[in-house]
Amino acid sequence: MQKKRERGWLVLFAAGLLPLILGVFFTFIVAQRIEQRQLENTADMVLNHAENISDHAWDMIGQLEQYDPRACGTIGKDIQRIGSITAYFRAVGLIHNNQVLCSSAYGQYPGTLQGMTHRSLPSPHPDTWVQSLAGTAGAPQRPAVLFLRQQPSGYGAYALIDGQYLLDFMHALSLSRSYQITMQFNHGYRIESGHIDTDSNLFFNSNKYRVNSDRYPITISVTSPPSEAIKAWRQVFLTFLPMAAILSLLFVALASNWLKRRLSYRDEIRRGIANEEFTVNYQPVYNTTTASYAGAEALMRWQWPDGEWVRPDVFIAAAEAEGMIIPLTQHLLQLIAKDVSQWEVQPGFHLGINVAAEHLQHPCFVNDIRQFAAKVADKPLVIILELTERSLISEGKQVAEKLALLRREGIEIAIDDFGTGNCSLSYLQTFELDYLKIDRGFINAIESVDGETPVLDAIINLSHKLELQVLGEGVETPMQLEYLKNHGVVFIQGYLYARPMSSEALIHWLANEGTLPLTTVFHAN
Ligand code: C2E
Ligand code: CA
Ligand code: CA
Repeated sequence: MQKKRERGWLVLFAAGLLPLILGVFFTFIVAQRIEQRQLENTADMVLNHAENISDHAWDMIGQLEQYDPRACGTIGKDIQRIGSITAYFRAVGLIHNNQVLCSSAYGQYPGTLQGMTHRSLPSPHPDTWVQSLAGTAGAPQRPAVLFLRQQPSGYGAYALIDGQYLLDFMHALSLSRSYQITMQFNHGYRIESGHIDTDSNLFFNSNKYRVNSDRYPITISVTSPPSEAIKAWRQVFLTFLPMAAILSLLFVALASNWLKRRLSYRDEIRRGIANEEFTVNYQPVYNTTTASYAGAEALMRWQWPDGEWVRPDVFIAAAEAEGMIIPLTQHLLQLIAKDVSQWEVQPGFHLGINVAAEHLQHPCFVNDIRQFAAKVADKPLVIILELTERSLISEGKQVAEKLALLRREGIEIAIDDFGTGNCSLSYLQTFELDYLKIDRGFINAIESVDGETPVLDAIINLSHKLELQVLGEGVETPMQLEYLKNHGVVFIQGYLYARPMSSEALIHWLANEGTLPLTTVFHAN
């Protein structure tokens, strides 16, 4: 019992914990998704910005191409004006091959492109060229992006975007989420904002997302630190927490309800025995040859203090499942013995008692039955133990010995619900038996008095061959009675003859109706 209680607490604990564990798991996945989406959004925004600025740069180059590169003296002012008043640009200018002819920042012939960008450019220059740079001659510490377009003649125009414009935008985005954002034009210098500590913990890693432009050679990558993943998870989890708490409570309530029902059946049966809530009903059995009662089957009943009747198949199954069937049957035997002491019955009265498999296999079984037989010994009864086929399967040898022992003492053995046990019929040879009680299901299958009911017919034939007595259970109609009588079934039990009744009712019934023949008029149609 102690162990069972402890297990109960464990079940409750597990039930309460389950939604939380599932919650942690699901919110972790949801948070990862949210985090990923945020990374993607950020990368898309930065990429948009970079593409926008690239558009401006190429527009600018288009404008510059209208000027004659060789006339810097006359156009220099225009170039200077365009370069300084247009947003984003550090410098713009005109070139011939590697030579800068005219620059908005330095005027005429300020030097070579290579000198300006601190980087050797492919030679000969491609028609168009873009690359991010770590710095330029004028501002070596500040990144920039070079855009360049050249005619086959070697003349062309360039525009230098000041990296600060990009960095400011990237900073604004990376600061709020502690992201690291990098932007790279054509595998050039990585313009970078923010810094990530790479130390990841057990569950949370830094996440990275990289996206390429399909219009320009731009790559953006955004990395979020583990702390962001934790923050996102914490947020989702806190949102989910009230629901998890409600689910936890619900699970605990369901589990406790289930436990109570499980625990309590055991306790309830024990209490029911102590409070004398159990009673026995007896259902008479008819003998078609003597046209009188043959005996009765004892059927247990349980009425709760609130007046509710518990169905026998329910509480018997519960008692079997919770190891209470033996004490319950022992109690039943006492109740029957008390009832029987009040009866006046004809000699040879069959008293059917249902025995559960567990009881049959228990060492106390033979003794329990002997004690009961001794108590009712002053009545001319034949005790019939009703066993199911299933109860004969395990420990067959010992069970066969016990039954043989009891049979020698005048107790008879019946197989209850015959044909429903799904087991081989070999036990019919192993065990010494007296009766087969044919299950109600086969009786229900009878369709007409002179038709055939193959399985039922086979069972009846089998019983006759084995020289066993046969009883038809659950006989409800005159047609079924007629059929069974015609096929040599001697014993009949069912509502047609009598319903289960209390001991007092049975005493009355035996005295008044029990010896009357079952006169039902059957009309075949
Ligand atoms: P069972 O041993 O097959 O008992 C016969 C059941 O069929 C009884 O149900 C009885 O009331 C019902 N019955 C009898 N005639 C008719 C009929 O014409 N039509 C219909 N529809 N039903 C009929 P009950 O009393 O509800 O018992 C159900 C089962 O519970 C029993 O089936 C038996 O397996 C178990 N049981 C009852 N009392 C005991 C007991 O004291 N010990 C054990 N181990 N099991 C018991
Ligand atoms: Ca029975
Ligand atoms: Ca039965």
